[in-house]
Amino acid sequence: MEKKKFHMKANSDINENKVNLILDLRKNGINDPEILRVIEEIDRSYFVDSHLYDKSNLNTALPIDCGQTISQPLIVALMTQHLEVKNNMRVLEVGTGSGYQTLVLSKIAKFVYTIERYKTLHQKAKELLKIIKAKNIFFRHGDGGLGWIEQAPFDRIIVTACAFEIPNYLIDQLNEDGIMIVPVGEIHEEQVLKKVKKYKGKVFVENLEKVRFVPLIEGIEKK
Ligand code: SAH
Repeated sequence: MEKKKFHMKANSDINENKVNLILDLRKNGINDPEILRVIEEIDRSYFVDSHLYDKSNLNTALPIDCGQTISQPLIVALMTQHLEVKNNMRVLEVGTGSGYQTLVLSKIAKFVYTIERYKTLHQKAKELLKIIKAKNIFFRHGDGGLGWIEQAPFDRIIVTACAFEIPNYLIDQLNEDGIMIVPVGEIHEEQVLKKVKKYKGKVFVENLEKVRFVPLIEGIEKK
């Protein structure tokens, strides 16, 4: 009985956190109703270890396996909003991590192609999203900085780790009229979220905001 009461209290706290999270996103410029709906609908607790369950609806980044992080929901929402995804688009995501951003994108785009350099994270996200029955996601264990040449070009590209400079391979794999969102900068130094647009064969870059991401690292990890 006591245990049940505790769970009910814990659940009501979690739901309250979700309401606060959505309010927080709105306050911080997320006004796309589809993105707000998708974030409200997805249970972020699936993507973190059980001891972090009660923190899963807070607007913070949280640790995941392999020393990586699940991004802050506001950052996921901001990047998705800047990406201007439509339901007929194919999106490449570099840095699957927990798979949370992947699932958000899959509910808006036609297909999502996601690459992760850690085998553990790649497999975990793939299994989880299979259980959740997300059917329009393709997973690859590889170096996402090289893109996914067999599936290119993409309408949209999102990089969820910080690059030293805008990766040329990814620009090459962006469609005409394509948009890429990528954090650029040095680790532990200033990082800026950039919006890269391809228009009439030319590349235009806009600085969005200061951010903090784990680094984009070359090569793969076999574990
Ligand atoms: N969107 C993810 C963010 C995970 S953190 C989430 O919310 O869970 C960034 C991820 O990028 C990490 O899992 C890291 O291992 C991965 N990563 C870094 N460099 C990479 C590369 N070159 N190719 C593929 N994945 C990379």
